[in-house]
Amino acid sequence: MIGHRGKDIEGLIAAVQPGLQAIFRTQRPVYLSTSSATGLMEAAVRNGARKRVLSLVNGAFSDRFYRISLACGIETDKLEVPLGNGFSADQLSSALKGKDYDAVTVVHSETATGALNPLEQLAKAAHAAGDVVLLVDSVSGVAGARIETDGWGLDYVLTGAQKAFALPPGLAFCAASENVLERAKQKKDRGIYFDLIEFDKYIRKNQTPNTPAVSLMFALQVQVEHIMAEGIEARWARHDEMAQRTWRWVDELRERGVGISVLAPEGYRSPTVTCIRVPEGQTGSAINSAMKAKGFVIAPGYGSEKDMMIRIGHMGEHTLDELEVLLEALGEVLTA
Ligand SMILES: *Cc1c(COP(=O)(O)O)cnc(C)c1O
Repeated sequence: MIGHRGKDIEGLIAAVQPGLQAIFRTQRPVYLSTSSATGLMEAAVRNGARKRVLSLVNGAFSDRFYRISLACGIETDKLEVPLGNGFSADQLSSALKGKDYDAVTVVHSETATGALNPLEQLAKAAHAAGDVVLLVDSVSGVAGARIETDGWGLDYVLTGAQKAFALPPGLAFCAASENVLERAKQKKDRGIYFDLIEFDKYIRKNQTPNTPAVSLMFALQVQVEHIMAEGIEARWARHDEMAQRTWRWVDELRERGVGISVLAPEGYRSPTVTCIRVPEGQTGSAINSAMKAKGFVIAPGYGSEKDMMIRIGHMGEHTLDELEVLLEALGEVLTA
């Protein structure tokens, strides 16, 4: 172990910073939080929202963002689309029109449904409506799905360690725009643990405000180097290939008479997770158990539709070859 103040930890934080910025595609500092990702969802609204929030809800995690905003005492409305769908810029523009929202929450890759939101267009729509910030949960996006924090004008992006970063759980990362920090400064009730002004002050000294999970940061350093060696563009491309292979496989099986389909419509599909409707008469949990018996970990659906779906996480360090083996086993389970 090394101490949490001093040259060693400062060297570690300084060493991971350029890699994290490259992964987030930002020139802004990337803050390190010793918490799960949900902590930085709370930080998003505590620091970045003034009075009224619009939450784009298309699954369990975006609904969590909505509930967090309410729980922080902010007036919050939700805009919903059917499960599996994403939001278009037009939908957001009309929801913002004539209203006094100052922030929008959105989940980039809705892990509960496999839906991907078009962040670049949503950020444009938010900014066109006035001083409205887009607060982005990209927990199953960053390090797997293309994201351009600066290039797309995203005001706040958060992620966790345990999804596409493929790290042990316990750390979360975020980047915030000047606008979000300005808003934070004016808020008297932004709390202590997730105060972005403190995060910002300390990262400039290559430190964290409180004692971080130092041991997890050793893992972070190794993984950031690994991701840089693969190249972020190549990493995104690998995720795209795995996703497209999964979608093609679903089509192939359907053509052979197996009643499955990808939940998210084309154009709104996440490259890191695919949610599949299961054939009538089968359940997500039974398929999950059968796969477990074969040595594979997939997941049933999430939330209300748990048993009507299965989810495959093709993210992190998984490869196309490994995915092929999994799909073959899943095919056997579905046709048994
Ligand atoms: C996993 C996940 C979260 C929650 O992350 P925790 O680290 O468990 O707090 C939030 N949002 C999305 C989209 C997720 O996939």
